[in-house]
Amino acid sequence: MNKVKRLAILGSTGSIGTQTLDVVRAHPDRYEVYAISAHRSLDLLIQQAREFHPEVVCIADENLYEELSRQLSAIGFEGKIWAGAEAIAQMVTMPSIDVVVAAMVGYAGLKPTIEAIKAGKTIALANKETLVVAGEIICELAQQNHTPILPVDSEHSAIFQSLVGEEHSEIEKILLTASGGPFRTYTIDQMRRVTAADALKHPNWEMGAKITIDSASMMNKGFEVIEAKWLFGVPVEQIEVLVHPQSIVHSAVQFTDGAIKAQLGAPDMRLPIQYALTFPERLTSDFPRVNLFELADLTFEKPDLERFPNLGLAYEATRRGGNIPCVLNAANEVANLAFREGRCAFLQMSDIIAATIAKAPFIAKPTYDDYVATDAEARQIAAQYI
Ligand code: MG
Repeated sequence: MNKVKRLAILGSTGSIGTQTLDVVRAHPDRYEVYAISAHRSLDLLIQQAREFHPEVVCIADENLYEELSRQLSAIGFEGKIWAGAEAIAQMVTMPSIDVVVAAMVGYAGLKPTIEAIKAGKTIALANKETLVVAGEIICELAQQNHTPILPVDSEHSAIFQSLVGEEHSEIEKILLTASGGPFRTYTIDQMRRVTAADALKHPNWEMGAKITIDSASMMNKGFEVIEAKWLFGVPVEQIEVLVHPQSIVHSAVQFTDGAIKAQLGAPDMRLPIQYALTFPERLTSDFPRVNLFELADLTFEKPDLERFPNLGLAYEATRRGGNIPCVLNAANEVANLAFREGRCAFLQMSDIIAATIAKAPFIAKPTYDDYVATDAEARQIAAQYI
């Protein structure tokens, strides 16, 4: 008999959060929703509380606490109702929780992930910004606390699946695939004129707005290079990005004997989410299957760093190390939002990020507090370039 795993889902109303709940719905004998949190999607959060009866419901935006409380009381909700970033960081340490699904967006994921690792929870990590900002601290803490970090990101799940049963020292290269996003075939002139609405039409994956823009600018792939470096302990020189528009090969590992192992599948996030929850087991699913007979061709191209400078910036930030990846992330969060709000052009996002990196003070061995200060300062610098 398998013990029921109790989950805390951070960002339960987002794309990964709602798909995690789909997995729970399909396996109610295996998983129980113990705690959920959202940034400010009140209605969906209440609907989820009504369906899953968690012990704790938390809203990050404290201004919404009273409204959440009122509506949950009205439906007879008997659990705890909390609000604020501190409450989320406390929630993840509750003794009954087995797994924390870290699926909130951006820098906000850092603090609760650190607290969850310290409390010895298994982490199903979807929030890649956590590793981009503070990968070194996160990995050290995870090692000290014997806390497994299981990747939810589809590429990293594919790499993780390809590494099962393999020796780490026998990795030659990680082959990280990218869809290329909606502007893969655009000229640089066309890219100057694209709008947020154009970027939000991502061809292959259904995702939230922030990550969809990051995918279009390839910053998402840059972050994933950094994420892979920390998750798998491989230097970025051994991580190669391949543009693969069909999104069937979710990533691969090349070994020292020349063998390549890859994981293939339909572009559906529920599979990597489920694998992170069931590892080392696989559970039967009704997710769509890939029919290899129907695949006309699988193609792979080198990324174009001239049209997608963010990818080069991410490699550069990792090579410099210290607090620079944290600067990269903060500047990107500011630029990404500015683009979505029509305050800067698509290609300007990279200029803003590059200028912020050039101006931010370098710290070689940052502490947690240094990261917090760097994040705030980099946001201020980036804002000046918009
Ligand atoms: Mg991904």
